[in-house]
Amino acid sequence: MSSDFNVIIAGGGLAGLLCAKELAKKNLPVEVLEEHNEIGHPNKCSGVVSLRSLKELGLFPMKRGVQNRFSKIMFHSPNDNKITLKFKSTNVVVLNRYEIDNLLADDATRLGAKIAVGSKAEEFTDNGSSVKVRTKTNRTLSCKSLIEARGAISYKNKKGFYNGIQSHASYKDFEADHIHVFLDRRLAPGFFAWLIPIDEYTARIGLASRGQIIERFKLFQKRIDVKDVLDLNISPIIVGGPADHFIEGRIIYVGDSAGQTKPTTGGGIYFGGVASLLASAALKAKSEDPNISIEDEYEKKWFSRFKREVKYMKDARSCYEKMINKEIEKLFIITKDVYSSQIDLEVDYDFHMSSLVRILGLKTLLSMAVAIFGKSMRDSLHNLWTRFLKE
Ligand SMILES: Cc1cc2nc3c(=O)[nH]c(=O)nc-3n(C[C@H](O)[C@H](O)[C@H](O)COP(=O)(O)OP(=O)(O)OC[C@H]3O[C@@H](n4cnc5c(N)ncnc54)[C@H](O)[C@@H]3O)c2cc1C
Repeated sequence: MSSDFNVIIAGGGLAGLLCAKELAKKNLPVEVLEEHNEIGHPNKCSGVVSLRSLKELGLFPMKRGVQNRFSKIMFHSPNDNKITLKFKSTNVVVLNRYEIDNLLADDATRLGAKIAVGSKAEEFTDNGSSVKVRTKTNRTLSCKSLIEARGAISYKNKKGFYNGIQSHASYKDFEADHIHVFLDRRLAPGFFAWLIPIDEYTARIGLASRGQIIERFKLFQKRIDVKDVLDLNISPIIVGGPADHFIEGRIIYVGDSAGQTKPTTGGGIYFGGVASLLASAALKAKSEDPNISIEDEYEKKWFSRFKREVKYMKDARSCYEKMINKEIEKLFIITKDVYSSQIDLEVDYDFHMSSLVRILGLKTLLSMAVAIFGKSMRDSLHNLWTRFLKE
């Protein structure tokens, strides 16, 4: 193994910290540069994730940080029609991201990683054999590989995001073991609003939109009868899909900076977390054998896991973005006719589009599409289904 192979990670969020932990575990010298003075702060994430994915990322069981578990997701229409779907194996949880990021940072440090808080990475220069990094405080560092994990700020598709607004609030009259999702263009055109109970009394409430975010949030508060909110935060939610490539010379993108989120919800813990594991393993292999291709070991492996699901999610997003409230309402009414308001089909939280397409089947999907949108959407769905069967 080459003893001078070291890695610098720009960004101490979940993706960067997971890389740091994995690289330190593999005995590679690694330093994380985090611009804020405290890991995990400010916390902008809702923290909803499946237990299965946490186990895969090596994060479960965990000492602390799981706040609530959910067996169901309840969708609310503009007129408050409701449809409930069951999660496969009742294994969806909500995390306190502040706690999780700090647990990860502690693990990484214990394994030998260095974490420099208050260190904003400002400039990277890849000179072919190493990368020079300059921080805001004019510290200069050099590494064999740089992991770009600065989150949404370095995501290149500047049209591929919504602005998310979220806060904590007391709630009443909502089931505490359900995630509540509100589909309503008045609140969140092209996206949705959410109420995620973290216990019987407190929830994370939020929505995403491309404009008038404060006004829409106030409207949402009215709808769910929530007066006072705490910790209001506005941050981008990435939905534009992954970048075509995750590697530029010696710079390796992971997490939100690579667009590794679900285009339906913007959830990035699982997709970005898997990227961190793959990228770290690829770097370790590269440190031992310079002929190893990071592209093969990281990028290609990530795409072979998620490409198909991401495609369905993007298709679903582009259909949903066009829907007006009347069509959303119709979707609820027709779904209730075909099934009932309690759908006992088990949906896989991580691969929800493949799971839904498989569960609902062509006949149901097409008849629903014709009833809601007419023939044009029927043709789009037919093409989608034909592609699904071919792959
Ligand atoms: C409102 C909201 C709700 C969400 N809810 C969910 C959810 O329920 N489930 C889910 O799976 N995902 C959710 N996500 C997405 C999830 O938060 C992200 O996908 C995930 O945090 C990405 O991790 P990351 O490490 O790539 O980026 P981040 O978590 O954004 O971390 C990037 C880090 O880089 C640091 N940084 C930035 N610039 C610099 C710099 N120049 N130098 C040094 N450090 C820098 C930042 O301070 C930050 O700590 C949500 C996102 C939002 C906005």
